Amino acid sequence: MEIPPIALNDGMMIPQLGFGVFQIPPPETEHAVLAALEAGYRHIDTAEMYGNEQGVGEAVRAAGLDRGEVYITSKLNNGYHRPDEARRAFAQTLELLGYGYVDLFLIHWPLPTLYDGDFVSTWRTLEEFRADGRARSIGVSNFQVAHLERLAAESDIVPAVNQIELNPYFRNHEVVEYGLEHGIATEAWAPIGQGRVLDDPILLELAGRYAKSVAQVVLRWQIQHGNIVFPKSVNPERIRENIAIFDFELEPGDMRKIDGLDRGEAGRNGPNPDTFDYVPS
Ligand code: NAD
Repeated sequence: MEIPPIALNDGMMIPQLGFGVFQIPPPETEHAVLAALEAGYRHIDTAEMYGNEQGVGEAVRAAGLDRGEVYITSKLNNGYHRPDEARRAFAQTLELLGYGYVDLFLIHWPLPTLYDGDFVSTWRTLEEFRADGRARSIGVSNFQVAHLERLAAESDIVPAVNQIELNPYFRNHEVVEYGLEHGIATEAWAPIGQGRVLDDPILLELAGRYAKSVAQVVLRWQIQHGNIVFPKSVNPERIRENIAIFDFELEPGDMRKIDGLDRGEAGRNGPNPDTFDYVPS
């Protein structure tokens, strides 16, 4: 299974499809990630707030793979935006993974209403991690256009990626456009809308016509738009299904049909990054 690599603005490459581990309980993570690695995935998306970084590292070792064979992303806990806390948290991420570096480290949420909205100081701290080589690439997640504009004005490094909510019902158009214009790769979180889009009649019709599942059609739509995706499942059959999307291509008219499902802001399922202020206790 050839997964296409995407070139990031810092010269690094990322596999366009990976495996997400949000809401996989820590004791089950090693097992699920191992199933993904056996199915051919070589890119894992975890986060400090998922509490399962350790299982990700264990799975890579259990699979007998070298560190360099798997692309690993993690993200800063919302509770640790202040520079000293971010430094401590990042060191713990590496310790839990059991490796000396991550391929990509992200600010998980901008939290503009907390810490005096000073995500710029947090970003400068991530710049340190890139400079010392412990993060090969750095990026952000859930950043809106205004947040990206502020980073551009007040810091030195353009984020390599912005990981945002994006599915056929919520194309998150403005943020995607900003990324295209400024060389920031878009990662689509919850690429199949956490299952919400799977019974859409138009998607069902397309799935029938291409003899694929709805999940495969939607993931293929994401790939053809150039988005980086990491669907999550703990079911080995679905894990294999979600990676088997490189043997067909959606025709331009069908891409436009899926584009037409966008509901704008009403299609957003997750929290709005402008107001989201969750901090784990
Ligand atoms: P998703 O869109 O990947 O959907 C997962 C759900 O769909 C699960 O309930 C699963 O059982 C089901 N599913 C998966 N494959 C299926 C298939 N082939 N057929 C039918 N059902 C299927 O949602 P997600 O897990 O929320 O998002 C994927 C990843 O994105 C996460 O694991 C995480 O890594 C990342 N994420 C990031 C953020 C962020 O704030 N940065 C937020 C949410 C998710």
